[in-house]
Amino acid sequence: MTERLFVVQLHRATARHYDVRFEIDGVLASWAVPKGPTLDPDVRRLAIHVDDHGLEHAEVEGVLGRGDVIIWDRGTWEPYKTDDPASEVEAGELHAEVYGEKLRGRFVLIRTDLDASGREQWLLLHKRDEHAVDGWDPEDHARSVVSGLTNDELERD
Ligand code: MN
Repeated sequence: MTERLFVVQLHRATARHYDVRFEIDGVLASWAVPKGPTLDPDVRRLAIHVDDHGLEHAEVEGVLGRGDVIIWDRGTWEPYKTDDPASEVEAGELHAEVYGEKLRGRFVLIRTDLDASGREQWLLLHKRDEHAVDGWDPEDHARSVVSGLTNDELERD
């Protein structure tokens, strides 16, 4: 089985958010997570399902228009107990075993609702497994895994 890309980009635009992306069928299925992913198994985070992005987007770090983006985490992932994660996304529940530099272990995305503009709202959570860390906060791990820079440092350069 070929490895699937996993990437999280911290994107400061009109609203600051983390873009959590999973390679599925040759594209990056993507969710915008305002408060960011966490290893804390007691926390559920709102995740807005956004448009798929091309695989090349996994390399994007820099100043983009009025915003900026760092590659906050990256690695690979495996769908859990299925070879057809696209069907799981369609059905509204994706289980992912993540092998990032910051994020590890099993994440679950569950579709819950539509927001006022018709976008799909999902919840992102981490299972209580051996990689779970109570109280883990993504804001304590602010640097790019590629350049070592924070968004502020990148923007100043
Ligand atoms: Mn974004």
